[in-house]
Amino acid sequence: MQTKILLNEDRIPKQWYNIIPDMPGPLSPVIHPGTLQPVTPDDLLPLFPMGLIEQEVSQQRWIDIPDEVREIYRLWRPAPLYRAHRLEKALGTPAKIYYKYEGGSPAGSHKPNTAIPQAYYNKIFGTKRIATETGAGQWGSAMSFACQMFGLACTVYMVKVSFNQKPYRKSMMQLWGSNVIPSPSDQTNAGRAILAQFPDSNGSLGIAISEAVEDAATHEDTRYALGSVLNHVCLHQTIIGIEAKEQLAIAGDYPDVVIGCHGGGSNFAGIAFPFAADKANGKNVRLLAMEPTSCPTLTKGVYEFDYGDTAKMAPIAKMYTLGHDFMPPGIHAGGLRYHGASPLVSQLVNAGIVEAKAVAQKGCFEAAVMFSCAEGIIPAPESSHAIRGAIDEALQAKEEGKEKTILFCLSGHGQVDMTAYDAYFGGQLEDYEYPAEAIKESLAHLPKVEF
Ligand SMILES: *Cc1c(COP(=O)(O)O)cnc(C)c1O
Repeated sequence: MQTKILLNEDRIPKQWYNIIPDMPGPLSPVIHPGTLQPVTPDDLLPLFPMGLIEQEVSQQRWIDIPDEVREIYRLWRPAPLYRAHRLEKALGTPAKIYYKYEGGSPAGSHKPNTAIPQAYYNKIFGTKRIATETGAGQWGSAMSFACQMFGLACTVYMVKVSFNQKPYRKSMMQLWGSNVIPSPSDQTNAGRAILAQFPDSNGSLGIAISEAVEDAATHEDTRYALGSVLNHVCLHQTIIGIEAKEQLAIAGDYPDVVIGCHGGGSNFAGIAFPFAADKANGKNVRLLAMEPTSCPTLTKGVYEFDYGDTAKMAPIAKMYTLGHDFMPPGIHAGGLRYHGASPLVSQLVNAGIVEAKAVAQKGCFEAAVMFSCAEGIIPAPESSHAIRGAIDEALQAKEEGKEKTILFCLSGHGQVDMTAYDAYFGGQLEDYEYPAEAIKESLAHLPKVEF
């Protein structure tokens, strides 16, 4: 009985799967926050290189992965698929549990899967520097590594509270050559405006986005990079599901349910979209996105047009949203604290093709600890939401005495997140359900867009 199902490096996929031609209905336009009209490629050129803008709207089902990108993917891909024999035994479940482990990348999560191609398309476009933002540092570290691989400079605006309190991912970014600036900073108009009003501001992801976007838009040689939500990010992550499908075929299996945690939607899209294609062709497979009850975008939000950021500088997209002025509580799964969701994942949820479920954080840490004591790997707090989903599916199979094959994405390891585990073991974590009134209040401020 195999525990790890491995593929040789020559099996690194040669193409990403683009779900756009297989979507249930046309895509909604992306709207310019200033004009409230659909954005054109020209509007996006100050921010992104042409190669990525083309991918954002491509109708081509399979998109070639450049050789230069596959060469770097070799450092950690193909990622292993594990059969969780020990977890199955601990649960006493008849279900088979498989997990695709993305924590073996240099940055420790799935994020380099898109950071590498983003750096590549910028390099061939002539970009000299990337400006980006990061919360706890997962995206900033992935992008720093990618820029180092392609000889690009990288400026990371890091939310100040994380800069001061979570130093290790900052150190990773600096090791890979990035300039890490605590946000709000005095380097941009957006940052200076906040500091003038709130000199002691701890920052927020919304402010850091505004600073990075302004930096890119005002420097000819600089472009912006985003680690989730956008179509091209979901596209790059499909390498996860494409590999997993091949590995499951080697094991002679096919999943009944595919599970991923959901922040902006990229790792979920990565594992689920290649299976959504089978589902569109009549396969019976469930796709389940797991989110925190403290930031319940897919389960409690509305499917409407909203701004991508708090400062209303980012484009407006039709997506599930809690409102752009939603104030995320300080939960420990920092990567799951976005008010919106990928428009592609949103459309699939709205069409009933993807299911969504919200879970509270204590149950997620309980699942993470159980997983780690059985399987060894210490999961990222974000990934623990997917583990909770998988364990619940396995326990349901046990109750019903049914066989079931479960596949989930273990999006990253938690070795730089041990303070979160300390808080859990110290009894300092509270379950938190974001109040319905607060959501209603935020949703009253959606932009009025008619498309
Ligand atoms: C950033 C992150 C997430 C959440 O982002 P998605 O775009 O929803 O995938 C999940 N897991 C890990 C380990 C992360 O670093």
